[in-house]
Amino acid sequence: MSLELPKSGSGRLALLGGPKSTTEPFAFYRSFGREEVEAVQKVVESGVLSKFIGAWGEDFYGGEKVKEFENRWAEFFQVPHAVTVNSNTSGLMCALGAVGIEPGDEVILSPWTMSADAAAILVWNAIPVFADIETTTFNLDPRSIESKITERTKAILVTDIFGQAAQLDSIMAIAKKHKIKVIEDCAQAPGALYKNKYVGTVADIGVFSLNYHKHIHTGEGGVCVTRDAHLAERMQLIRNHAESVVARKPTDDLRNLIGFNFRMGEMEAALGIEQLKKLPALARTKTKSAEDLTARLLKLKGLRPPPVMEDCTHVYYMYVCLYDETATGVPRTKIIQALEAEGLPAVRSGYTNIHLLPMFEKRIAYGSKGFPWTMPGRESSVTYGRGTCPVAERLNEQMIGLLWCSYQFDEADVERVAKIFEKVWDHLEDLA
Ligand SMILES: *Cc1c(COP(=O)(O)O)cnc(C)c1O
Repeated sequence: MSLELPKSGSGRLALLGGPKSTTEPFAFYRSFGREEVEAVQKVVESGVLSKFIGAWGEDFYGGEKVKEFENRWAEFFQVPHAVTVNSNTSGLMCALGAVGIEPGDEVILSPWTMSADAAAILVWNAIPVFADIETTTFNLDPRSIESKITERTKAILVTDIFGQAAQLDSIMAIAKKHKIKVIEDCAQAPGALYKNKYVGTVADIGVFSLNYHKHIHTGEGGVCVTRDAHLAERMQLIRNHAESVVARKPTDDLRNLIGFNFRMGEMEAALGIEQLKKLPALARTKTKSAEDLTARLLKLKGLRPPPVMEDCTHVYYMYVCLYDETATGVPRTKIIQALEAEGLPAVRSGYTNIHLLPMFEKRIAYGSKGFPWTMPGRESSVTYGRGTCPVAERLNEQMIGLLWCSYQFDEADVERVAKIFEKVWDHLEDLA
């Protein structure tokens, strides 16, 4: 048999006409059980689906379940204050408003995060400034953050991307030096540890997501945590019609007390109470299955499975590898096609790079005249687009990612995933 000919028979790649490695679909992730159903039923039967009132008084803080959920969240994460909201996005808006962002101030963020982070900055007429990311964890690079700081920088919005903490100690030290605040978007890393502390509890404010796609969820929802009572109070105000409430609730700081309605309902809070109980076990299963896969993929040339930083745990919202096509001679797109053809679901060839969104490249946000970048007296020279975050742009051409949180990926599934990768790597010469 000639070595040049593609392998034939059952070993042949599905992409080249062979049989698929797996025809059975992978089960979607589910974090719910009977407990959630019963908890919601009780709320519905009580008839009280929300108790919030947008006026100063006892009901300003919401109903029984909302308060109980906040207490339990604070206890679990060992922080004095937890403020529930109806999404992580609205939580970020509360957090940025609470720290007193002024129009035209700059907030540093990552290009590899959800666009919600940039929107939450723009809501306060502040200027998003993108720092570049690291090749190891895909999190913000502290050196790049430092290089982006100006006298207008008011905060750093750091995302713990894919389920692992950013370099929080370095970032907190930079913030301290420049007397600015740090807000952590931990939507993808609930329950992950950074040096024995929960992700979200290191920065001035941590913001979690409870949307349907996350490790634990309430359909839609979010929670902000902080050690600072003043920030907690300001977030409670922004969550719930601040402008009206402060007519009767004394406050010494009116900045950004434009209130929204970001309130969580009683059903979501009741779901959240049950989901939180399950978080440690659910996060552990994500970690365990991903580590099992990594042990297998480490053997494949040109592929770097996600590294885990020292003194950290990773809860794998996504499982993102780096691929070096010079090591194999096979283009990344071919590898991805081959993996998908074998039956591997939800393979991702890129992440967000939000600095390339049309809104930024064209600097059009509020209205048509470039506000807030053109704000009189505070014109901004910040520009966006290709070349401003070269590492983030390059990594988008080198990653192969799996939506780890979207599927169950039990032991048998991980075996199937590993076998698919191994089959593709056994046939690299057929793809070259
Ligand atoms: C999911 C997610 C959000 C948005 O969360 P919502 O609760 O849907 O608003 C923000 N940032 C990151 C990194 C996310 O993964």
